[in-house]
Amino acid sequence: MKKDAVYDAVIVGAGPNGLAAAITLARQDHRVLVLEAKETVGGGMRTMQLTLPGFQHDICSAIHPLGVGSPFMRSLPLKKYGVDWIQPPVALAHPLDGERAVLIEKSLDATAARLGADSLAYQRLMTPFAERWDDLAQDFLGPFPLPPKHPLLFASFGLKAIRSASGLARSLFQGEEARAVFAGMSGHSMLPLEQMVTAGFGMMLGGLAHAVGWPMPRHGSQTIANAMAAYLCDLGGEIRTSSPVKNLQDLPPAKMIFFDLTPRQVLDITGERLPAGYRRQLASYRYGPGVFKIDYALDGPIPWLAVGVERAGTVHIGGTLEEIAAAERAVWRGEIPERPFVLLAQQSLFDPSRAPEGKHTAWAYCHVPHGSSVDMTTRIEAQIERFAPGFGDLVLARSTHNAQEMQIYNPNYVGGDINGGVQDLRQFFTRPVARWVPYSTPDPGIYLCSSSTPPGGGVHGMCGFHAAQAAMKSRGLKIKG
Ligand SMILES: Cc1cc2nc3c(=O)[nH]c(=O)nc-3n(C[C@H](O)[C@H](O)[C@H](O)COP(=O)(O)OP(=O)(O)OC[C@H]3O[C@@H](n4cnc5c(N)ncnc54)[C@H](O)[C@@H]3O)c2cc1C
Repeated sequence: MKKDAVYDAVIVGAGPNGLAAAITLARQDHRVLVLEAKETVGGGMRTMQLTLPGFQHDICSAIHPLGVGSPFMRSLPLKKYGVDWIQPPVALAHPLDGERAVLIEKSLDATAARLGADSLAYQRLMTPFAERWDDLAQDFLGPFPLPPKHPLLFASFGLKAIRSASGLARSLFQGEEARAVFAGMSGHSMLPLEQMVTAGFGMMLGGLAHAVGWPMPRHGSQTIANAMAAYLCDLGGEIRTSSPVKNLQDLPPAKMIFFDLTPRQVLDITGERLPAGYRRQLASYRYGPGVFKIDYALDGPIPWLAVGVERAGTVHIGGTLEEIAAAERAVWRGEIPERPFVLLAQQSLFDPSRAPEGKHTAWAYCHVPHGSSVDMTTRIEAQIERFAPGFGDLVLARSTHNAQEMQIYNPNYVGGDINGGVQDLRQFFTRPVARWVPYSTPDPGIYLCSSSTPPGGGVHGMCGFHAAQAAMKSRGLKIKG
């Protein structure tokens, strides 16, 4: 790089949203540079040998319904750059006591058929959104759509999505099975299931399971990061790793700066460059509960009691709606749940590259209070043993990260919050602050593009895409293609 080079845009952070912003700008022939603190690109899409030689673990994201379902990710030539999606035969299994399990398959009919008395209600709830996911994504994966592109669909989704998960599940479903599986999918919100909008998470993840599946990339999430980075470089973009940005003086001259960071870090880096009123708004941004993460090297596949769980990429372990709701309520109140809601993925069953022959990996986490340093290993393993007795005997090695260690690993996980801030009704469309264009700041050269902007957490790149589009529009630049 020439010392006096002026970039059109410098992007701080090479997570999915930073890379998405850079790609969106580079596609319009802008000269972009991405600065990443760590030695590798990826943010929440990294894969490493955390336990024993030959075992590959997804440190953060593992399962990617949004990786295949987001309009931005779909626009990328990921296959050409080495991403090979694996669709497990069952997207999600939700074991229950008594050797039962609810299985969510891509086929809505097959899934509903197993839900007994709730078969029709489940089908009625999911069908419109599974069938019209592409239309729904246009209105929901971004800032509040004014006006919505698909007003009737938006209204019919929105009226249910705004409800609490426990309220919607209780009013629609009679049986323990359907209520439990809906509670588990809604638990991804990291909110108490009695709060408004939690139903929206269950509906979106359920709809995605039937529309596009819940796949995993062969060799791990790092392959998505590497593909995005390689594509960016082919578009002429530059990436510098091992380049932590501590203040604005660390940046080369650029017309625009994009932060793939959360408000707290943006405040630290920008100092007094942003006006005091906006700084106060950013400072009042709310972060939510954290996660406790475990990666396992296993001597064999997990011995699930219920038939069919071994065919699922993802397993939700937490029992009934009431139990999951109690666990999430406790976390929100700052208490440690004795029986946490555990999200588990068993990638090596479908992707042999993750472990030596005959061995396996498991990826698991549960929600914990913000900033918690409590070790959840015993509680997580008791929950797994409940549905898979003998699991403990298979553990060859484990690597754990409590919520504080998650933040040390990636400063975007403030207090262990993996969504870049609370995703409740108030902060869903108005993250990080209530502004017409939430990606912009009062400084015309500074933009935010992380999951602290709409549509929030997940590997979808839509925050970065919308931020880049907003910046180009506000500068009166023509967007081609
Ligand atoms: C345990 C766990 C499980 C998850 N599971 C899933 C899943 O299965 N599916 C899914 O879709 N999502 C999942 N997620 C969420 C997903 O990973 C995040 O929502 C997503 O990565 C957010 O993307 P981002 O680009 O906004 O930020 P990030 O991915 O956090 O990227 C930010 C980047 O900025 C860098 N950075 C930070 N500070 C600086 C600085 N000062 N200077 C330079 N660089 C800096 C960081 O190193 C990082 O690379 C999971 C997350 C975790 C932690």
